[in-house]
Amino acid sequence: MRAGATIESDRPSCASNQATRRSTTRRDDWIARRDRCHDVGLPRLEPSRTAGDLGGSALYPAEVHKLLAGHATFRREFVAGSKEFLERLASAHQSPAAMLIGCADSRVVPELLTSSAPGDLFVIRNVANLVPHAEHGSRSVGSALEYALGALHVRHVVVCGHYGCGGVKAMIDGVDRQAMPNLAQWIEQAAAQNAVAHEEGVADREAQWQRAVEENVLDQIAHLTGYPCARPLLESGELTIHGWVYDLRGDLFVYDDDRAAFVHNT
Ligand SMILES: [Zn+2]
Repeated sequence: MRAGATIESDRPSCASNQATRRSTTRRDDWIARRDRCHDVGLPRLEPSRTAGDLGGSALYPAEVHKLLAGHATFRREFVAGSKEFLERLASAHQSPAAMLIGCADSRVVPELLTSSAPGDLFVIRNVANLVPHAEHGSRSVGSALEYALGALHVRHVVVCGHYGCGGVKAMIDGVDRQAMPNLAQWIEQAAAQNAVAHEEGVADREAQWQRAVEENVLDQIAHLTGYPCARPLLESGELTIHGWVYDLRGDLFVYDDDRAAFVHNT
């Protein structure tokens, strides 16, 4: 009994020492990595603080303080009342009902405008909600598509553009290649396809921009059909692609194949 008691009492202490050693090693790794970053001139990051430390907002710039305070609100108002739901999500594989390809624009929040909960939507966002032509390849969009269709068995993909899209405006006006070479390359691929963006002498530039946004959504849908992971599912009728345009004011327009137009979702 005595020996057993000793063994029992040693175990936690032993485990605790191992955990401490692991933690120390990990911290050393982080410090070494941080120092390497500083050596090549990368900026020093803010010290980490927990939400409980947020009493002193002077620790952070106002923009970051607002985000961390927002997370504290999220924990208080959502997490506290959703513990079972979140536990179910965390302990099972995700099984979203749809994939949404949207613009990175901060005013277009897919989960908000569709009243979706965590786990409902598989989302990828980029400038101008592009799906590059399969032959030109975008590892980011391509991998998300392959994973959603092949591993998660998602069978509805929404390409969601929005009026007032700066990325589509850049298709019409062009991008400063010197200042933003990556953006220029990204946009020019899509711009080359967008017939509306190239119309010249259009009096109503605002209307042209709106039509270019709609054309851009249809172009991306056409590209999507060329991906090897999507094509067989489309041919068998298992996969449906949807085209949407959000107007930034709360209204959504859904592409209707029969009318060949975006119609107001009421
Ligand atoms: Zn946009």
